Amino acid sequence: LKFIENTDPDIAEVIANELNRQKSTLELIASENIASRAVMAVQGSVLTNKYAEGYPDKRYYGGCEYVDVAEKLAIARAKELFNAEYVNVQPHSGSQANMAVYFALLEPGDTVLGMNLSHGGHLTHGSPASFSGKLFNFVHYGVREDTGVIDYEEVARLAEKHKPRMIVTGASAYPRIIDFEAFGQIAKSAGAYLMVDMAHIAGLVAAGVHPSPVLFADVVTSTTHKTLRGPRGGLILSKAEHAKKLSSQIFPGIQGGPLMHVIAAKALSFKEALGESFRNYQTDILKNAKTFAKHLTEEDITLVSGGTDNHMMLADLRRLGVTGKDAEEALGRAGITVNKNSIPYDTQKPFITSGIRIGTPAVTTRGMKPPEMAVIAKLIVDVLKNMNDNRVTERVRGKVHEICEAFPIYQ
Ligand code: PLP
Repeated sequence: LKFIENTDPDIAEVIANELNRQKSTLELIASENIASRAVMAVQGSVLTNKYAEGYPDKRYYGGCEYVDVAEKLAIARAKELFNAEYVNVQPHSGSQANMAVYFALLEPGDTVLGMNLSHGGHLTHGSPASFSGKLFNFVHYGVREDTGVIDYEEVARLAEKHKPRMIVTGASAYPRIIDFEAFGQIAKSAGAYLMVDMAHIAGLVAAGVHPSPVLFADVVTSTTHKTLRGPRGGLILSKAEHAKKLSSQIFPGIQGGPLMHVIAAKALSFKEALGESFRNYQTDILKNAKTFAKHLTEEDITLVSGGTDNHMMLADLRRLGVTGKDAEEALGRAGITVNKNSIPYDTQKPFITSGIRIGTPAVTTRGMKPPEMAVIAKLIVDVLKNMNDNRVTERVRGKVHEICEAFPIYQ
């Protein structure tokens, strides 16, 4: 930080403030995590200086002999982690990974069947606000209103009716296990490619505590920074037959020089993920989420689908008469960070919403276990049931502080 302070005290202050925020608040945003110091150090290394357009041993720049080693390690480790035939570690983000897959396997205007954004899908699964919805003809499936679970019969019906060139599954806010085998069968009967976006669950899949989509999908995309706990970035896995098309759609199709400092950090994080303690970590994420869900339910909070099988849950706040936006703000004042989230069949606008999404990856990285989850769930309920009572906010804030001190990060 000294180097930064000497050059730019304003940015040094931003970093110091953000570090303090992360240390002193409870991070329950399901898509966030706390990367290791080693992951961060690699990203801040000299590798940031290197241009390396192309792929290992086939670059358009000289001097790539060392970054080639990093990219080869990242690819080999990802292959081992996910049992994939082809891996591309160059996507700058999850959205870029998805874009490259669409460009590789589809033509503009092709029909794609994807999960509705307001039922848990991602923007890049065909939202009209995203390039995906603008360039391709997305039709959407969703969850049933009575169960909150994907309606596989509807998926099959829509696939039969619309004959999509591709089916996309995977989600940003879906608390249940997706039946990848069922999606594989539906895609096969419809003559469609299957793409699974496993961004949220990649760490669980890597550790073998969640079913893997790799066997059933033509292509699997991911981010590397959520449950997987690596640097921010994207990842593509596929069967060998799509390798050429995917490689050329990432570079030169939609990206230029790969971020070699990030790719090296991906390699390092994959090594972390191959270790035994990562499996224990992912098991703890699941235990923590189950405990969290149980305690929220006992406090009469409605959860979409009634609970969770993964690292996240979606609380439906309509019965409390509280919007997602107000809940996010009130919890934020108490030192608990969540995000407002549309629930299926929400009548509120996306910027207001009727729900909040809660995830356990980051607090589990801090070492918290089910007893802490029980306490935090109760604190959340206290805030949600006393939205305008500053004394409750203050009391919860104090308790949050105590928990954060007991489970420090970046000592
Ligand atoms: N796919 C899913 C399912 C996601 O949840 C996200 C991010 O939230 C993305 C893709 C996009 O990742 P990125 O923000 O890196 O573009």
